[in-house]
Parts: sequence; C-alpha cells; structure tokens
Amino acid sequence: MNFLRRKIFKIFGYYSLALLLPIKFLYASSKKIVNRNLSEEQKEIMFNEGTERAFTSSLLSEKRKGTYHCANCGALLFDSTAKYDSGTGWPSFTEAVPGAFNTKVDYSFGMKRIEYHCANCGAHHGHVFADGPGKTGKRFCNNGLCLIFKPSQ
Ligand SMILES: [Zn+2]
Repeated sequence: MNFLRRKIFKIFGYYSLALLLPIKFLYASSKKIVNRNLSEEQKEIMFNEGTERAFTSSLLSEKRKGTYHCANCGALLFDSTAKYDSGTGWPSFTEAVPGAFNTKVDYSFGMKRIEYHCANCGAHHGHVFADGPGKTGKRFCNNGLCLIFKPSQ
C-alpha cells in the first residue's frame, strides 16, 4: 500500500514538476537577488518557494514596536501593529503595507493557496489566508527568514 502511494506520488510529482517548469522559468525572470549576503536557506525560500521549518523563527517572540522589511531588498512590508501570534509557527500579520506585495495562486501540494511576493524584488515571502483575526480578515503567514525587523527608535 505504501509502495503504491509512493509510486502515485512519484508520477504526479514528476508531472506537476514538468508543468510548473515553464511557468517557473517565466516567473524567475522578474526576480532579482539584491542582497548578496543571503544564506542558502533564505535563497531557497525567497527564490525557490521554499518554507522554513515551523517554530524556528526568532521573530515569533518579537513583540517590540517597529517595522518589518524584505531581507532581500529592504522594502517596508509590515508594521508591528499588524503582527499577532497565530499559533502556526510562522510570523503572522493581519495586514501588509499597501502595495508591498504581489499575489498569485499557488497549486502546489494539492492545495489552492494565495502566495505573495515582494512587489519590489519578487522574492517569495509566504501565503495569505482568509482566517485572520483583524478587521481585514487576513492572515499573512510569512517566513521569518525573509524578514528583517527594525525596532522603532
Ligand atoms: Zn524585496
């Protein structure tokens, strides 16, 4: 049974990869690495749609006032007033700075999710869901490694 499941996954995995490759290629042209000091893990998340392991971000416990910026290009993305503890293991926000992100529909892992990218440099940051607690009703689920926190003075 397990073998069969693995086989099905393998076949579908390859198919979706083949379908996604041309899209990925087109998409990649709009992305640019600005920060040459990004770690391999940061590059994997930001430019290969990776995801950091849950509950690993040091920003989860960040409660100071300040602003969150793109770790690649430095663009302003979130204000600390929008941050909340969603319990998911990733830094979460109820709203982003207007115009900070572009979104696209992501069908990976058999789910339909809204993926968002830095509007300035194209780096992938996370997914936005419609179950947020604020008046926007949104939950921006952001990889902590993609963010730089700047505490207000
Ligand atoms: Zn950026």
